[in-house]
Amino acid sequence: MEPHARPDPAAAATPTPGLVANEFDGKPGLPDRFGRPLRDLRISVTDRCNFRCTYCMPAEIFGRDFAFLPHSEVLTFEEITSIARVFVELGVEKLRITGGEPLVRRDLPTLLAQLARLRTPDGREVDLTLTTNGSALKALARPLRDAGLKRVTVSLDSLDDEVFRSMNGIDFPVQRVLDGIAAAREAGFDPIKVNMVVKRGTNEESIVPMARWAREQGAILRFIEYMDVGTANGWAMDDVVTAKQIVARIDAELPLEPAQANYRGEVAERWRYKDGGGEVGVIASVSGPFCGDCTRARLSAEGKLYTCLFAAKGHDIRALLRAEGTAGATDAGLAAERDAAVRELVDRTWRARVDRYSELRTEATSHLPRVEMFAMGG
Ligand code: SAM
Ligand code: SF4
Ligand code: SF4
Repeated sequence: MEPHARPDPAAAATPTPGLVANEFDGKPGLPDRFGRPLRDLRISVTDRCNFRCTYCMPAEIFGRDFAFLPHSEVLTFEEITSIARVFVELGVEKLRITGGEPLVRRDLPTLLAQLARLRTPDGREVDLTLTTNGSALKALARPLRDAGLKRVTVSLDSLDDEVFRSMNGIDFPVQRVLDGIAAAREAGFDPIKVNMVVKRGTNEESIVPMARWAREQGAILRFIEYMDVGTANGWAMDDVVTAKQIVARIDAELPLEPAQANYRGEVAERWRYKDGGGEVGVIASVSGPFCGDCTRARLSAEGKLYTCLFAAKGHDIRALLRAEGTAGATDAGLAAERDAAVRELVDRTWRARVDRYSELRTEATSHLPRVEMFAMGG
């Protein structure tokens, strides 16, 4: 038995009164103003990254002197776990660790081991997953697996070394990410998901080779439309290669047919190879928004709660944890008081949620102020 598979009664969440089965998925949950339950939490463990992807943290803007969060402002593992526990009590079933680049956070497997002990109100394990640029996966895949990480998604924008080096902004060789993916597979992550952001004029020629490679590897490949996240990447609608165009390119060489969604809220549109050679997904965040099914919240590295990837403002959970009297509380009464304050904030914020940015997007909205994706948690 793997270490994380054993239920830990001390870590089990207590059922939260007041959560009623909702029409969305029939399970108890916290509905927002459009009836979307809170089901997923993306947890950013750091705002730092070793890459400077042109579409996320362009090197010209995020140079050597860019001020990332000081250590003291970043949530501790204990703080993250106690916040995650509250979210799980409120109906969250999936936790995704992200960043910045999550693998640059020291001792990350220790956090994973803590999160792996959480249980849903009806006693199930949570779905624990992580998104990484793969650069440090060779060394960390095994310790993360042993700590209880269930699934991993690797971002990879091209197999062409020249294209990849230029897109990651630090001349990082693609082979090292491929080595990381191989190490993840050896550690038991199977299947591995791979995300590829497609940007016009940059890596369109990599679409079909990536599709062929993923088929051979048995990896689940998801193409992501280039989004107007943050304001630093200079996004323009013309840079977007739409899901339809991506599918057409693949279909011309490897014929495709549509596949059914696995579950409501699945963001990727799935397509099957007609020859039975697996499937690919496209995430049409720009051309086919899916806000109606969006059940995701984000927790930034500094402890702010965001209810939309395009939000300009977060809600400060860290302030509640570090409030005088309850900060670092080991006393059961104080810890319960602190958790109740977090629960109240999350409950109130989610119930008031009306976000649907992608459904309302225009060229004009893409210039509105908002938090960068690496800072919020991608
Ligand atoms: N550093 C990790 C990584 O790259 O996998 C995790 C954080 S990153 C912000 C999360 C995901 O967001 C990655 O798959 C990345 O490709 C994607 N992403 C970043 N900027 C994007 C953009 N402008 N449009 C679409 N996807 C983007
Ligand atoms: Fe770093 Fe991920 Fe952003 Fe690339 S997409 S700069 S790897 S946080
Ligand atoms: Fe969810 Fe906001 Fe994205 Fe819509 S725009 S899918 S509400 S994160």
